[in-house]
Amino acid sequence: MRPRRVAVLSVHTSPLEQPGTGDAGGMNVYITHTAVEMARRGISVEVFTRATSSEQPPVAELAPGVLVRHIPAGPFEPLGKDELPAQLCAFTSGVLRAEAFHEPGYYDLVHSHYWLSGQVGWLARDRWGVPLVHTAHTLAKVKNAALAEGDCPEPRTRVIGEEQVVAEADCLVANTPVEARQLVSLYDADPQSVHTVEPGVDLRRFTPGSRSGARQRLGLPDDAVVLAFAGRIQPLKAPDVLLHAAAELLRKQPELRQRLVVLVVGGPSGSGLEQPQALKELAVHLGIEGQTRFLPPQHAEMLAEVYRAADVVAVPSYNESFGLVALEAQACGTPVVAAEVGGLPVAVAHGVSGLLVPTHSAADWAGALGSVALRPDRRAELADNAVQHAQRFSWARTTDALLATYGEAADSFRAAILPEVAV
Ligand code: UDP
Repeated sequence: MRPRRVAVLSVHTSPLEQPGTGDAGGMNVYITHTAVEMARRGISVEVFTRATSSEQPPVAELAPGVLVRHIPAGPFEPLGKDELPAQLCAFTSGVLRAEAFHEPGYYDLVHSHYWLSGQVGWLARDRWGVPLVHTAHTLAKVKNAALAEGDCPEPRTRVIGEEQVVAEADCLVANTPVEARQLVSLYDADPQSVHTVEPGVDLRRFTPGSRSGARQRLGLPDDAVVLAFAGRIQPLKAPDVLLHAAAELLRKQPELRQRLVVLVVGGPSGSGLEQPQALKELAVHLGIEGQTRFLPPQHAEMLAEVYRAADVVAVPSYNESFGLVALEAQACGTPVVAAEVGGLPVAVAHGVSGLLVPTHSAADWAGALGSVALRPDRRAELADNAVQHAQRFSWARTTDALLATYGEAADSFRAAILPEVAV
């Protein structure tokens, strides 16, 4: 059965925020694109998020058929993820009140994103008598097993909260088979309830284009060797690995000094907020401040130009449940060098559309980046394949798979409540 109206819960970040800094990243992009695709299929989507400013309207239209509801819960200002659990009761109350203005049965399904929303979704599911589908996006146990040196582990309260949501949800959506297995092995999820749905990429926005045109637009010389990073600046994303690798490349090939450009796009996030200048200081320390350019978070149109301008896009994360940046760069015809972690081996076809690096060592990364960026023939071949590889992943495909999961959630929900009804 197809839902007519879906309540999407996104407590800690809004799809209206600019991704690439703070708590806004791939999840926001995911929610936006799948909501828009659902609306195109005639399904209304209402996204509930916490109000962070008194100037936000109670309801805003994201796109035809997609509303964002700003729920007051705590102060009208951004709150850290560690502060949000104390606001979940207020948030849940706001969600339930919004629904109570309508006739019973207004929403056919709840889809929660990230564990904080899962806590709210579980109550809404019970109250409304509709299925709960949950996407974790990241998992504390997985993150804690692969921390960057000196990074702070995720708290126990999150682990417990995630375990509760996994136990309660009617269906769990995993980005890749690896994440599906992690939900089962680390969180004891029922394998039947876990559905793998690969995320997508906006193939209309992220398209191949002229490299020199993009460089001109960004003020970069045509003959530069450009290595790019895009995303939230935090230890988990490891932009420092790119900087170390660039310094290593220059140590081995000093003649590149005039041509090398390291482009870092994004703003501080997570534990990176504690030292927002750390990456700039590292560039100075490594003697590559003249080669490194920092850009604030960019809208998709400009980000596409960054990808097109780059010889290689680096995704050196310690953990990545999927890695949308990797797909977007490939869709723009740029090979990706990525860490061999989490979902990145799905996002990048090793040796075909880019390279996967099994370590985070500067020498390994310098070798991999140089072997693509400095070999035009190889780069051209990987670039062609990258476009083809990315074509497989559209948001329309993701949305079709999500809708199939919603159908199964509805079936298992009915099967679970029928015996109770019969009593
Ligand atoms: N992004 C953006 N502008 C930027 C940097 C990143 O819009 O300056 C977007 C990017 O297009 C991608 C998302 O942020 O869709 C990051 O998603 P990813 O899965 O790579 O990482 P996450 O943020 O989920 O950890």
